[in-house]
Amino acid sequence: MKIGVLCIGDELLKGAVVNTNLAYMGQKLLELGIVPELSLEVPDRPEDVVRGLEFVLNSADFVITSGGLGPTADDLTKPSIAEYLGFPLELCEEAAEAIKARWSTLRHAHGWGKNTQGTLPFHFLNQAYVPKGCRVLMNRFGTAPGIYIAMKEGDRFPGKKIVMLPGPPSELHPMFDDQVIPIVHENMDGKIYSRLFHVSGVPESKVEERMQPVIQALPGLSVAYCAAPEFVKLFLSTRDSGILERASEQVRAIFADSLLSDTSRTVAEEVVHLLARTGHRLATAESCTGGLIASLITDVPGASEIYLGSVVSYANEVKAGMLGVGEETLRTAGAVSADCASEMLSGVCDRLGAECAVSVTGIAGPSGGTAEKPVGLVYIGVRYLDRVRILENRFRGSREQIRARTAAVALNTLRRLILGLD
Ligand code: ATP
Ligand code: MG
Repeated sequence: MKIGVLCIGDELLKGAVVNTNLAYMGQKLLELGIVPELSLEVPDRPEDVVRGLEFVLNSADFVITSGGLGPTADDLTKPSIAEYLGFPLELCEEAAEAIKARWSTLRHAHGWGKNTQGTLPFHFLNQAYVPKGCRVLMNRFGTAPGIYIAMKEGDRFPGKKIVMLPGPPSELHPMFDDQVIPIVHENMDGKIYSRLFHVSGVPESKVEERMQPVIQALPGLSVAYCAAPEFVKLFLSTRDSGILERASEQVRAIFADSLLSDTSRTVAEEVVHLLARTGHRLATAESCTGGLIASLITDVPGASEIYLGSVVSYANEVKAGMLGVGEETLRTAGAVSADCASEMLSGVCDRLGAECAVSVTGIAGPSGGTAEKPVGLVYIGVRYLDRVRILENRFRGSREQIRARTAAVALNTLRRLILGLD
């Protein structure tokens, strides 16, 4: 099945909104082993919506649109597409009832409706008009329903499918998960078996290289890779459940302790789960990452069980005053040094009463580097009980990338130390 995505909205082209809907749908589809053929962003103008749809329909037989289903004057996706395809709009009673119900709760919650005698603004009900013969996708988190059109013999594009979804991510995400994924399944000829692995600490090129023999040995297996700073996502998909099992076994053998467990979606999550099991508590001392590691850990629900807190020790005075880094260390070795990372590590353990800690100090750039200590030089300290590692890293990339890589290496080193792998 060839999927195309059409994202509608001036704000996307002006750079005011990042197209996270595409990213979300792309990730969810990849879990089914599907990569969209193409994606296009167009302004809110009806002629551009139609031109965009025509373009996407050229290379895809299943088109998903996002945006422009709301009640305002610039929300023209549905009438423009319906007119182009030749479907009249008709009132969907169920959607109208849902919109009225939602309007009355919104009106009371916000005190609206004073000037309208509490009546529903007529343009609100526009959202309940849907192309004749479509399937309506109810919206639990907003007023605009989604639309699914499966074109038949005699329609403008027989056999092609179009799904229209509202733009707000809080509405699109649940609709995509609960209603669009099942539609995608309906349209796939035969079942696809897929599995996702997270390979941590191995570069994408190495993951690809090591997968080559598996791909050659198992025809019909498709493999997709997606690299993030903290891991490479490895997706296996196939129409044969036996092949999926054999491929998974080989992936487990090849990547062994570089794989996150099936229940973790981030390295931080894995660390939180591991420490929850051992009952040890974690503290962090961050300089160049400025709290990023703390943020990744506290993103995980249940982190409070194992996480004590962080000292964001950006200035030397804070490294010395709050963490007890020696004046002598700061003067001779400097703030960006293995000694400083080591003293930050023991300092934060002592002061916060932790059995387990991470410290980082480095130069994230773009300025501040010297020949001896270039941008990207980062020292990472990790401690778990009596096991201590101090790593010297030379990361490349922008300030943002250096900080992300630092956090990724720190958390992965901690994971391995807890597991007794290093
Ligand atoms: P509404 O009822 O809110 O008007 P809508 O379906 O008409 O919903 P839009 O008006 O196109 O959607 O967009 C509403 C908001 O949703 C945008 O201002 C933006 O914040 C967000 N949004 C729209 N498209 C995207 C996208 N592709 N990625 C991320 N956010 C988006
Ligand atoms: Mg809108």
